[in-house]
Amino acid sequence: MKILIVGGGIAGSTLAFALRRAGLDPIVAEARSDVEDTGGAFLALAPNGVNGLLALGLGDVVGAAGGFELSGLDFHNARGRRIAELPGEDDLRVYGARGVVLRRARLHAALSARAQEHGATFLFGARLVELRARQDGWSAVFDDGRTVDADVVVGADGIWSAVRRLTWPEAPVPSYTGIVDCGGWAQVHLPDSVRQQMYFGHRAFFGYAVKDSVAYWFTNVTREDEPARSELDGLDQDAWITTIRQLHAQDPDPVRAVLAAADGSLGAWPVYDMPELAAWNTSNVCLIGDAAHAVSPSSGQGASLAIEDAAALSRHLRDGPDTEAALAAFVRERKARAEKIVRFGRQIGDRKVASAAGNLFRDLTLGLFLRMGAKATQEQYGYRVPHLPDPPHDTASGVGRA
Ligand SMILES: Cc1cc2nc3c(=O)[nH]c(=O)nc-3n(C[C@H](O)[C@H](O)[C@H](O)COP(=O)(O)OP(=O)(O)OC[C@H]3O[C@@H](n4cnc5c(N)ncnc54)[C@H](O)[C@@H]3O)c2cc1C
Repeated sequence: MKILIVGGGIAGSTLAFALRRAGLDPIVAEARSDVEDTGGAFLALAPNGVNGLLALGLGDVVGAAGGFELSGLDFHNARGRRIAELPGEDDLRVYGARGVVLRRARLHAALSARAQEHGATFLFGARLVELRARQDGWSAVFDDGRTVDADVVVGADGIWSAVRRLTWPEAPVPSYTGIVDCGGWAQVHLPDSVRQQMYFGHRAFFGYAVKDSVAYWFTNVTREDEPARSELDGLDQDAWITTIRQLHAQDPDPVRAVLAAADGSLGAWPVYDMPELAAWNTSNVCLIGDAAHAVSPSSGQGASLAIEDAAALSRHLRDGPDTEAALAAFVRERKARAEKIVRFGRQIGDRKVASAAGNLFRDLTLGLFLRMGAKATQEQYGYRVPHLPDPPHDTASGVGRA
């Protein structure tokens, strides 16, 4: 079976690795010219995502991606008072792993390297522009004129998926959530964080965690109208950090201190999520990761779901009686879980957007909201990817396991 994976991000690279482990032979076509990706700053991988990597024998990428463990959240109001907490001290015992913070570019590079070491073929600079139907398969056409024939096409090409658009032209498009996410790193004189620190600031939401005197920070700037890509691509970095400092000028000191020290390039990403799709698969095309179910970053689950998808699809393609049955079984296993988490992420994001207007109400109700969210968190964190048989030796993952 010739499997073409379009997109070599988190989902595509993990799937390529897992398929090689399952004895299959995928080709990955990635639009970027090489694996270096400076975009995206950092991301948090939840215990379920870490467990997914460990189950696949990919635990070592956490160290390669500069990962450090971080469990739990403290929420503060705009005066700096702690108004709620989500304890994470028991995560290792309860879920079998702790969450980690990773540098996104290094995570991409590490996953891609591991897949290639295990024999997966990667074509870089290959942006899919057309899928031509052949008898029993597809001919994929790329923007540089290359073509690849395949029996199965997996769309792991992210939120703006070309595979989705080409296969289901009527499918809904991602919807803008009213938040522009931005963040970066700052050299600070603060102790290492045990939990991530979140602030409902006067005018914007802010979060940070410190490891080895480096603060990993982000802010959610609310903006009603969707910014044009050209506006963000040409962003004047000095003007942007000045704007962000002004937004948080009245917030308590750890926030201002982190932003005062912020330097280097800042990312700015309008946040989208995907309305539910009627279908993720046909008899020989399937979507995974953000292409199928992009979830707001507020959930902290997008990367973890992408890893879970990759593990599940590789297992079904290995075990299914045929491709069509394997893809259908994959979608049956994954769709309800992913869509529930997308809805959860949207609720959290809406709360951040509303927060500037409703500070008092939010302070009073956040604890209750978090308790209600605790069940959802347990469902998210508690998911375990079944192990593939005969995993290779998991070299020094550096990640705790129960
Ligand atoms: C600001 C921000 C913060 C986030 N924070 C977190 C977080 O803390 N925790 C978390 O779990 N998730 C977070 N996420 C979400 C997470 O990044 C995504 O869910 C995850 O990257 C999805 O992986 P993916 O492989 O499906 O898509 P992607 O990582 O987007 O990979 C898609 C790949 O496909 C390639 N591609 C695109 N189009 C084509 C084409 N036509 N042909 C070939 N290749 C193509 C792209 O170049 C890319 O490499 C965040 C997202 C954003 C925007």
